[in-house]
Amino acid sequence: MDLFEHQAKELFAAYGIPVPRGIVAHTADEAREAAQQLGGRVVVKAQVKTGGRGKAGGVKLAEDAADAHRKATEILGMDIKGHTVHKVLIEEASAIAEEYYFSFLLDRANRTFLSICSASGGMDIEEVAHATPEKVAKIPISPLEGVNRAKAREIARAGGLPEKAVEGAAELIEKLWCCFVDEDATLVEVNPMILSVDGQVRALDGKVTLDDNAAFRQPDHEALVDRGAEDPLEAAAKAKGLNYVKLDGSVGIIGNGAGLVMSTLDVVAYAGEKLPGAPRPANFLDIGGGASAEVMANGLEIILSDPSVRSVFVNVFGGITACDAVAEGIVAAFRLLGERGEQVGRPLVVRLDGNNAARGRQILTEANLPGVELVNSMDDAAARAAELAVAGV
Ligand code: GDP
Ligand code: MN
Repeated sequence: MDLFEHQAKELFAAYGIPVPRGIVAHTADEAREAAQQLGGRVVVKAQVKTGGRGKAGGVKLAEDAADAHRKATEILGMDIKGHTVHKVLIEEASAIAEEYYFSFLLDRANRTFLSICSASGGMDIEEVAHATPEKVAKIPISPLEGVNRAKAREIARAGGLPEKAVEGAAELIEKLWCCFVDEDATLVEVNPMILSVDGQVRALDGKVTLDDNAAFRQPDHEALVDRGAEDPLEAAAKAKGLNYVKLDGSVGIIGNGAGLVMSTLDVVAYAGEKLPGAPRPANFLDIGGGASAEVMANGLEIILSDPSVRSVFVNVFGGITACDAVAEGIVAAFRLLGERGEQVGRPLVVRLDGNNAARGRQILTEANLPGVELVNSMDDAAARAAELAVAGV
């Protein structure tokens, strides 16, 4: 999960990292009021989860509260790389002497953590890294040793920071390492990390990516989720513990195992290409190994509540969970949905293969569920599901 800048800075502040005082505003009036509280001269900053806001006109200096109102009016509602600005951060303006770049990240390729530091920070860091890579220091961090003050100084000097900024930067870097580790982040980026005119090193921008796999041990992170940006079906699926991703096609997909589901998406898209309207997968849904009746019912319920779904393809390869258990799951799911007052209402193509496939097919044949068709091969089943999506309900 990526955080908004204001959330990143609130997190930084909790670790003792110096950040400018700031207030979030959702309207121009709130922006004016915030600027008044902060003493007039402020920066108005678009809060969107994408970089390059400065270059897009999403970061503007305001001379006083009235000007903050004006600048907020300009920025609110703006589109920055496909993200609409719904809120701005009003911050006391900083007098900048120099802009540096700093980040910690998880370096998957090298199976370690990495720190990146440069004295040439600011909005052109990508250009600097491209044209003069020697100005950007990349120093691996051992997860066993971490970052103490001495290591932090070494990184700051490697990045070419002037001596007058080294101690302040080292303190910031050391605290940022604590934040990175304790919050289970995969990225913490400060660009610019500034040296102010009065000689202080501060985080002027903040980008944080939290590792969702660590959510179970980070109960506080739940509050950072941007509910407004969540797809309602994905949110409902998540609440049911399902591994579901909404896509934009019309063929609902259920499978067991992420790899099988991904190849199912490909096969369906391929089959659909040859048909009128080129139907595509409507979702990714992996019901995992133990495909119980309840999980199957929940999965079907989510998929069928997507109005763009016109047919459903259930693709199961029996392994540890045998096909007869999955078939019983489907039968029970129809019963469960009936009890919940849900209509399946759309054709279901089922392909069962692997462990106990014959028994599974027999169970489904005997159950004679409305709209359910058995197709034996994955390619044929995908073609049939795509065809039914074209034919409509
Ligand atoms: P980004 O473009 O999305 O990375 O947004 P940043 O928060 O990094 O802001 C972009 C640029 O705006 C910075 O590199 C600064 O040059 C400038 N900026 C941001 N805040 C201030 C401030 O308080 N005072 C001054 N003078 N410039 C600022
Ligand atoms: Mn920035």
